[in-house]
Amino acid sequence: MKFYSTRDVSKKEYSPCEVIKLGLAPDGGLFVPERIPVLSLGELGGLCSLSYPELSARILSYFFTDFTYDELLCDCLAAYSVEKFSPEVCPTVKVGDATYVLELWHGPSCAFKDVALQLMPRLFSRALAKTGESRRALVLTATSGDTGKAALEGYSGVDGTDIAVFFPDGGTSETQRLQMVTQAGDNVLVSAVLGNFDDIQTEVKRIFSDEDMRARLSELGYFLTSANSINFARLAPQIPYYFKAYCDMLARGEISLGDRISICVPTGNFGNIFAAYIASLMGLPVGRLICASNANSVLTDFLRSGRYDRNRSFYTTASPSMDILVSSNLERLIYFVCGAERTSKYMSELMSGGVYALAPDELERIREVFLGYCADDEATARTIKHYYTDMGYLADTHTAVALAALDEYRAEHPLSVTEKVVVASTASPYKFAESVYYAISGVASPSGSRSLITLSEATGIEIPEPLLGLDRRAVRFSSSVEPRYLADMILEYAGGKK
Ligand SMILES: *Cc1c(COP(=O)(O)O)cnc(C)c1O
Repeated sequence: MKFYSTRDVSKKEYSPCEVIKLGLAPDGGLFVPERIPVLSLGELGGLCSLSYPELSARILSYFFTDFTYDELLCDCLAAYSVEKFSPEVCPTVKVGDATYVLELWHGPSCAFKDVALQLMPRLFSRALAKTGESRRALVLTATSGDTGKAALEGYSGVDGTDIAVFFPDGGTSETQRLQMVTQAGDNVLVSAVLGNFDDIQTEVKRIFSDEDMRARLSELGYFLTSANSINFARLAPQIPYYFKAYCDMLARGEISLGDRISICVPTGNFGNIFAAYIASLMGLPVGRLICASNANSVLTDFLRSGRYDRNRSFYTTASPSMDILVSSNLERLIYFVCGAERTSKYMSELMSGGVYALAPDELERIREVFLGYCADDEATARTIKHYYTDMGYLADTHTAVALAALDEYRAEHPLSVTEKVVVASTASPYKFAESVYYAISGVASPSGSRSLITLSEATGIEIPEPLLGLDRRAVRFSSSVEPRYLADMILEYAGGKK
């Protein structure tokens, strides 16, 4: 399989190994496969007899053709072992008549990003070895909270790599912060940054395209790469779980082979929902993709008007992992619908003025599949309480944004009430215990680790093992810097390693 940059009209080709190593294309675009492989209905049915690691390796083998199926299987078996994910990688839980919650947070950081980030470092090491790379990789990671810990879990201790994680000071939950600043390992750098996620992502992207920075790091024996969902190796491992949800529904007789399902995803950087879109292009029978946003509703507005406008207030919400105004992976969808030339034009408009607007026919094509809804913190809290009290399901704040969006979608489309919808559940409620406890009880929760115990006492649901005793671990990283100092911090770290 060959890959192109979303912004390159001349279609320069990249191999899967190069894509995995580079993360971002040199022109600032994102890597996309030259074509999407399509499975027949028979092949789709065949996937359902596979274990999760086998299913995952099979799907990935269509894209990462530099690796053999056996190599991919070896990595998937290691990534998705019972030591990492328990009791299952991604169980599907039926909630109500036609809603199926795909729980993606049973891994080491208790958020869905583990599914990709337990695997990606292994693919990465393989790509380094296959290409005879002699430099160390420095994995630069901007995080709104969950990517950071998941990436640290995935990369700490991995040979030939160092990982630097930057999170917004005050922009994460206390649990998220503690997970990152207490990270063990001698190949890790973690820092709070005075700014919001977009400020950090913008600076990290700038560092990637800074020639001088690259040269100086190269002298120190390093090259830069990314663990964010701008890297296709992060996106691809998110495709198989949508097939898995379909197979689970088939196995339980909820659907017949070929029946359509819709998928509703709480969205920030547009990675998870874009993986669902790729699954649909690959032949998974998907009706609609429902894109759920919090009060930072830039995607909702875009999917309704075709106009992407980042010039607006940034809200810090109870679903911090979705507090994003520039959803990077949307660029991939724009490319699929409009091609490289238009994508390049829209992205330069976004960069210079913060706005671009699709042509009506382009928006029409997107709206055939994607619909956008948003829920503010109050609607999200009401939804958590409703699902807990009336359906017996405890959702975290991000999952609840999706459930709220789904309820609104159903209210707007009365004929669709029997349509079966898979809702991606992206975090354990315990990662956001304070907000969740307040939502179900109406009483302020104690802060920090007490909030997990309080929530557990109120619901009788066990606290996930990785979140126990976080406040007793030693804090290793306490810096907080302005975005413009990130480059210096990185150089200092790399220099100190030499
Ligand atoms: C990262 C994250 C999201 C957003 O996913 P994208 O792929 O960035 O759209 C949603 N929920 C949680 C809990 C997350 O950590």
